[in-house]
Amino acid sequence: MAAKKNFGGLDLFRIAAACLVVAIHTSPLETVSPEGDFFLTRILARVAVPFFFMVTGQFVLSDYLKEDGALKKRAKAAAPLWGYLQKAALLYGAAILLYLPLGIYAGHYKELNVGTAFRMLLFDGTFYHLWYFPGLILGILLLMVLGRFCSVKVTGIVVSLLYLLGLLGDSYWGLTSQIPGAADVYEWCFQVLFGYTRNGLFFAPLFLWMGATAYREDRGKTVGPSVGGIRADAVGLGISLVSMTIEGFLLRYAEWQRHDSMYLSLPLCMFFLYQLLLKVTWETPLICRTAATWMYLLHPGMIVIVRGLPFGNVIAKNSLVFYGVVLLLSGCAAWMTAYLLRWVLGHRFRREQRKSRGGELFSRARAWIEVDKEALRQNVAALKALLPENCQLMPAVKADAYGHGAVLIARELNRIGIYAFCVACVAEGVSLRKNGIKGEILVLGYTHPREFELLHRYCLTQTVVDYDYAQLLNQCEKKVRVHVGIDTGMHRLGERSDHEERLAEICRMEHLDIQGAFTHLCADDTNNPKDVEFTQKQAKEFYRIVKKWKEQGFSCPKVHLLASYGVLNYPQLAGDYARVGIALYGVRSAKTDYDRSGIRLFPVLSLKARVASVRELGPGEAAGYGLAFVAQSSMRIATLAIGYGDGLPRALSCGGGSVLIHGKRARILGRICMDQTLVDVTDIPEAAAGDIAVLIGTSGEEEITAYELAEAGDTITNEILSRLGGRLWRVGVGGR
Ligand SMILES: *Cc1c(COP(=O)(O)O)cnc(C)c1O
Repeated sequence: MAAKKNFGGLDLFRIAAACLVVAIHTSPLETVSPEGDFFLTRILARVAVPFFFMVTGQFVLSDYLKEDGALKKRAKAAAPLWGYLQKAALLYGAAILLYLPLGIYAGHYKELNVGTAFRMLLFDGTFYHLWYFPGLILGILLLMVLGRFCSVKVTGIVVSLLYLLGLLGDSYWGLTSQIPGAADVYEWCFQVLFGYTRNGLFFAPLFLWMGATAYREDRGKTVGPSVGGIRADAVGLGISLVSMTIEGFLLRYAEWQRHDSMYLSLPLCMFFLYQLLLKVTWETPLICRTAATWMYLLHPGMIVIVRGLPFGNVIAKNSLVFYGVVLLLSGCAAWMTAYLLRWVLGHRFRREQRKSRGGELFSRARAWIEVDKEALRQNVAALKALLPENCQLMPAVKADAYGHGAVLIARELNRIGIYAFCVACVAEGVSLRKNGIKGEILVLGYTHPREFELLHRYCLTQTVVDYDYAQLLNQCEKKVRVHVGIDTGMHRLGERSDHEERLAEICRMEHLDIQGAFTHLCADDTNNPKDVEFTQKQAKEFYRIVKKWKEQGFSCPKVHLLASYGVLNYPQLAGDYARVGIALYGVRSAKTDYDRSGIRLFPVLSLKARVASVRELGPGEAAGYGLAFVAQSSMRIATLAIGYGDGLPRALSCGGGSVLIHGKRARILGRICMDQTLVDVTDIPEAAAGDIAVLIGTSGEEEITAYELAEAGDTITNEILSRLGGRLWRVGVGGR
């Protein structure tokens, strides 16, 4: 594919064209030289509006006209055109309203009836510069109709003829008025239909067409305009400008002009000017595009304002000064409007962009995880509501946030005001920092002394896993931020709570910056009395140490002991943090686990994969490794682009699990492979390659939960989720 073309020349000339339009309406040289003013505003500045039409033609119509003769494709290409027309109509409507008071004040609508209203809205505009919008809309519609039935060339001939007809009612009126029959027809049109032929029928279509055909990427191997070089274009432009000047002045002296928008040389001028601008590739700020439109829209208002200023009369006396002031004001107003609009629309735009980026991702990935941000937020709110006011969540984002994608999750949590996390190892902490995650990051597990330096560099907090480890940490030159682990009965990590002397010694170590202490509950997920008693004992033991330290004068700002089940079943034990993991992700470890809270949690993760291939299987034919599946009768099977290498439990093999396709269940057949899985789609005739299969999540009315996979694999959801592989794409959906 060709590199993206830069249209900086066009963008820049938009501003120049807007300045020229302002000139047409202010006559800058009037008080200096009437001839000069005629040249500037009635000849030179006449390139401005055709230029705008051409740009629109290029960016809006070229795809449509390109689909030469292919009706079906053209109907498809028409879809964006309708969208564009809608927007143009909306802007036109807004402009009509904006200029309504001025129009009333100026007496434009005195003789308003159905006929004049029709004429104004469709051709002449409700204010003198607003003819542009109906011109644009009508011109596009005309080209759509022509393009539907004629080739690009024939369309070009038709719009050229229309331009010639328009010319006869504009600059060449002196000629037309001498032809009796023709003059009458034109006179009638001017009386009834429109004030000028410079409108959407005779003027706009040619330039729209010229713009649409000016630049074709598919024209040749080289990207960009293919006619002549810059020098040839400049010479062509010079010659056609001279010819237009001569033409203009001759017509002026012959007094043929009824109006002065259309010349024979104008299309030629526009051709060369446009080719020249296409070759200019300066980087131009994007804001130029919108600012030029607003300048066009707002300048008549500015003219009125300048006239009404205290020194308005003085300013108006010198046409050049008047022009300068109007230009300045229009420019400022346009820039301000453009920026304001960008700011207001920015949010929506960015949101849509983010969404579409997500959409693009699903449309390409072979297997992926969707993270429901709204569900995550609801889980955060529900868990927080269980806890006392002063207890903050410290989400466990270890093991890639239980498979969800640690950066994705932590970023979203940062966004909703959560600034404490725990991870299993130092590498996980470093990765979060490298991705801009803010707040306290506690490394729950062992870090090798040779990696202590990383703790400093990435501002991570290390767990003191026991007394000996504390001594190692204490050998660091700089102070290390730590939370002291206290073993209250799990006997995994932490210094034993009955080693009070050692614990006190840890507190006295010079190079430990003790920021907190924690313990871990290991029997908080049942309500059997023995476990409840044990949990209470753990908590009691933990708080006993905390109290003792306080008495001894040791500082320990943050204490914590609750994980997910602690929050659900023992929220009253909460300290300063709650290290929630599995519950935050919207599931419990097992369906039957004890949960006193009864709160509703929403699964955050969906696991999806693409159908890679669908094929028939005859009776007696086998499939997959070890020919473990044998078809009893003829059937259809689908191959999914996901396997145990992505974390799909191999225990789901041979009917141990199923997936959802088009809202229906498809049984897993044979042995799950590392990268592929076979499923039965005999009863899903619509299943086809490229379809999406849901392995965890919902499709139509059906749902497969992480519990289902966990039960089939004889494990807990934590294991299923945390094993989902790094090969899967991860994408956030829903919410902002
Ligand atoms: C993993 C872990 C947690 C989070 O556990 P969940 O049960 O998933 O909420 C909390 N604390 C420690 C020490 C952990 O290792």
